[in-house]
Amino acid sequence: MTKTTHTSSDGTKTRHSTGGHSLDTVAVRGARLFEPHTGAISTPIYQNTTFRHPGLFESTGFDYSRVINPTRSELERTIALLEGGDYGLAFASGMGAISALIKLYQPGDHLIVSEDLYGGTYRLFTEYYEPYGLSFSWVDTSDCMRVEQALQPKTKAIFIETPSNPMMKVTDIRRCAELIHHQGGQLIVDNTFLSPYFQNPLRSGADMVIHSGTKYLSGHNDTLSGLIVLSNTQLEQALREVQKSEGASLSPFDAWLTLRGIKTLALRMERCEGNAFRIAQWLQEHPRVDQVFFTGFPDHPHYALSCSQARGFGGMISFALKDPADVPVLLKSVSLILFAESLGGVESLITYPLVQTHSAIPEAMRRSAGITDRLLRLSVGIEDADDLIADLASAFACCGKDR
Ligand code: PLP
Repeated sequence: MTKTTHTSSDGTKTRHSTGGHSLDTVAVRGARLFEPHTGAISTPIYQNTTFRHPGLFESTGFDYSRVINPTRSELERTIALLEGGDYGLAFASGMGAISALIKLYQPGDHLIVSEDLYGGTYRLFTEYYEPYGLSFSWVDTSDCMRVEQALQPKTKAIFIETPSNPMMKVTDIRRCAELIHHQGGQLIVDNTFLSPYFQNPLRSGADMVIHSGTKYLSGHNDTLSGLIVLSNTQLEQALREVQKSEGASLSPFDAWLTLRGIKTLALRMERCEGNAFRIAQWLQEHPRVDQVFFTGFPDHPHYALSCSQARGFGGMISFALKDPADVPVLLKSVSLILFAESLGGVESLITYPLVQTHSAIPEAMRRSAGITDRLLRLSVGIEDADDLIADLASAFACCGKDR
């Protein structure tokens, strides 16, 4: 099967109104194209904490790097352009960004959250923000009826991952935005899986987008970062206060690494997705595989929805084995694909969600979402697809022996 390029109803494949330039160009050139004082093409790393003031009540616009730093500002403007928002904020990790964002809500507020999402987000919400007085309903948000049923008068936000992690379900961004806007709340989308290259939730009505910049944006499994993009000035001001007061701001060097990663986002996303198509199809035909979850399959139940709100399907695949006893064998036997917990980098990684990314999620909820002892998740990198398939084939060949 080859990839069928599709165009979202948002516009052409990657072109949107980023000052007239396509998203691919903005990713490479950033917000400023070059540093105006010296002409440096690569944004300099302003590795300093404090900035001299010309005089009393005079400022260069910079004062202290926890609050504002020129390298971080360039990243914040670049991600805002890529997502089609007015403001970007950069944090020390994806969790730092989510934790800042949740501070916008008050004790007594209720949030609806995708039940099938990164386990760390579940842990943060239940262990830290429930005791603080927020309440959460964990819902299969790919079913809009369930979202509607979960709405309460005190619901202030819907927080979704789409495609979901790890079951690759797709949630209707436009419908969720309508539902929550009807009662004056916000739709928050964790857009880590598709990156701004394939999906721009703000253009479908979402209010805030978050990213684990650690994944596709940085792209090399070497940098932690977290990003928020939005257009509401009041919320942006509130988030700046959180960033300044809590201090989980992204360091200048990691901001620079994230900017450098973003330069090749378009190339990497295309390659990851192309490889994912090949591998997903290969897995689907493998006798030891029970089910493959990949949104790019035309028979995926949410394929049409994906095509209506995203420009691609990304590089993430989950698959269920027939026999759970194959899991440890496969994890031990892959050699090119690495058994490690992350995604979105140039190197292909295989993850066992049950004990890794989703271990914080209670068993009943994991079961309801489909996260079983037979489920593995692949983050497909940019290596040669034939090499990756050969690696999987030789690992599968080790399964079922001596049992
Ligand atoms: N959101 C998603 C979808 C993730 O997969 C992760 C981490 O794996 C996070 C958020 C948290 O990001 P970070 O690890 O950068 O804190």
